[in-house]
Amino acid sequence: METHQYVKLDSVTELRLKRWMKAALAEAERGTENGEHPFGAAIYTPEGEQLSVACNTVCSTNNPAAHAEVNAIASACQAIGEPSLTNHWLVATAEPCPMCLSTAAIAGIKFIAFGASQAVVNEAGYGGLGVTGRDLARQMSANIHLRSSILANDCVSFLLRNRKRNR
Ligand SMILES: [Zn+2]
Repeated sequence: METHQYVKLDSVTELRLKRWMKAALAEAERGTENGEHPFGAAIYTPEGEQLSVACNTVCSTNNPAAHAEVNAIASACQAIGEPSLTNHWLVATAEPCPMCLSTAAIAGIKFIAFGASQAVVNEAGYGGLGVTGRDLARQMSANIHLRSSILANDCVSFLLRNRKRNR
């Protein structure tokens, strides 16, 4: 089982992850144009098929839990008609916060690729509760693999261009 997972992880090339990240980033940009926070995420099957792509909708829904990753997970589960995404990929423009990391683990997601690190998220004014996705993943019993810095330059500059404004 363990070996199988590592094979899957290696079989997804950097090039492919960048293509997936472009889809998440485009959705994040679309969200900011509608006044949402600058985050996007997508779910891909182990075979590389896109199940969902979503942006953060906290502002339009007044739901503090409507992060891009949670939205993408919910949408993917709706698409396949079951609440489980075993061995799927979560691609997120920024390092997932504790809520999103936990939601991914509960859904059975094994692989997470992200662009900007939690430090950049903090710099842009969006807190992560002081725990990085990577730290939390290490403490969990769930066997989650994280890949950082996918399209990092694009994700970082996008996030910093869309710093949280004081309201
Ligand atoms: Zn989150």
